[in-house]
Amino acid sequence: MDLDIMSEEAILVSKKVQAIQDIRTSAKEALQKQADKMSAQSSVNYSVANVGDNIVVKIPDVDRTKADDRNQFTHFVAGSPIRINITKKIQNSSKNLSVFARQIFDSRGNPTVEVDLITDLGLFRAAVPSGASTGVHEALELRDEDGANYHGKGVLKAVGHVNQSIGPALLKQPFEVTQQREIDEFMLQLDGTENKSKFGANAILGVSLAVAKAGAAKRGIPLYKHLADLAGNKEIILPVPAFNVINGGSHAGNKLAMQEFMILPTGAHTFSEAMKMGSEVYHHLKSVIKKKFGLDATAVGDEGGFAPNIQNNKEALQLISDAIAQAGYTGRIDIGMDVAASEFYKNGKYDLDFKNAESDKSQWLPADKLQEMYQDFIDSYPIVSIEDPFDQDHWDAWSAMTAATNIQIVGDDLTVTNPRRIQTAVQNKACNCLLLKVNQIEVSTIAFNPIALLCNTRVVHMDGAALAPIPLLPQLKALPFRKVFSFHKLS
Ligand SMILES: [Mg+2]
Repeated sequence: MDLDIMSEEAILVSKKVQAIQDIRTSAKEALQKQADKMSAQSSVNYSVANVGDNIVVKIPDVDRTKADDRNQFTHFVAGSPIRINITKKIQNSSKNLSVFARQIFDSRGNPTVEVDLITDLGLFRAAVPSGASTGVHEALELRDEDGANYHGKGVLKAVGHVNQSIGPALLKQPFEVTQQREIDEFMLQLDGTENKSKFGANAILGVSLAVAKAGAAKRGIPLYKHLADLAGNKEIILPVPAFNVINGGSHAGNKLAMQEFMILPTGAHTFSEAMKMGSEVYHHLKSVIKKKFGLDATAVGDEGGFAPNIQNNKEALQLISDAIAQAGYTGRIDIGMDVAASEFYKNGKYDLDFKNAESDKSQWLPADKLQEMYQDFIDSYPIVSIEDPFDQDHWDAWSAMTAATNIQIVGDDLTVTNPRRIQTAVQNKACNCLLLKVNQIEVSTIAFNPIALLCNTRVVHMDGAALAPIPLLPQLKALPFRKVFSFHKLS
């Protein structure tokens, strides 16, 4: 009968235990509040947990010698019977974690930066792409400018900046590799210049791309999905490959002014079918050119496309049409062009014979005449896309062309993946599509902002939903089948 009656001593002990539990609960609440506040104020994460009889506060290991963070917590339990353990959470604890850059060579034989990022999950390697023609509005690609070596194009300074500055500074931070935006912003702040001239856009981009790969692996998803998530892009569409099959412009040694002539297998049902169609037409084109101009005309240009010595741009379109017909794909493959017109813009006019120092000035075309020429191309051939039809600052000409046609008018030199220039292009309705190049804007997270902008405005877009007559899809501008590592350059 006495079982229900607790002794006075037992009641006292019970009350004490309850009191201690209450103290612990309110202490934990206070500590949690403090941890939340400090997490919100910084980019790092403070956490609180019950471990056995102790409350454990984990603070990020930003600086081992720093005592301030501890003091932010200890005063909550000063004088109380509660013990708290404060442990430094060492987030970059992997012995393997390292960042290392080296100089490699791109498919043009030019030095470029490659970065290895090693995490618990392995090695993540990224090579920095580089364009042959760099627009005046692009970010600074740091070259050694030492004429005695690599024609001044060495990137050992940029490599040194990764190995001696960016890498060590990053490793001291408590970032997770999934924190792309924070890491990119940290690097930009570390550089501190408008155009990334301290470290070089190529140094920063190499690390940023390697982080993106490591971040995707950490999340256990493919890189494209990780990047889509970073860009807030929920609709993922497989791109159409665009094969650059005839080269002209300043990239090629022939007379052709316009820089690239591409085939787009828009009638393919799968990516592999598109590759098959591209491959077959490429080889048919080789035999078409050989038959018409001889074997020596089938040498390839800087970007792996053929560079027959023709001057008439329409003739290039005819060669491609013949090859498409021979391959049996008429109606299933469209044609795209990258004119890169800034290369031959002189005194307000366009010189289609610009590789000839003695070119006839009376033949230079004003913008409206050049636009008429494009219209003739569009009327005669299945052209669905023209990139950089006018000079990069010739806004009026761009707007007139975009208003007059239903095809893709693509900004590359015009927009240089720069949010400010893209905004201007949107306002002026200067183009309805853009080329995205991570090397132009130096950091991948920032490079993906333009896409979010496009999706919001529906004026310029990558997904093609807003322009009716042609099946506008994201396109992957690729080189023909020259080298496995040709993805190093995005031209
Ligand atoms: Mg271009």
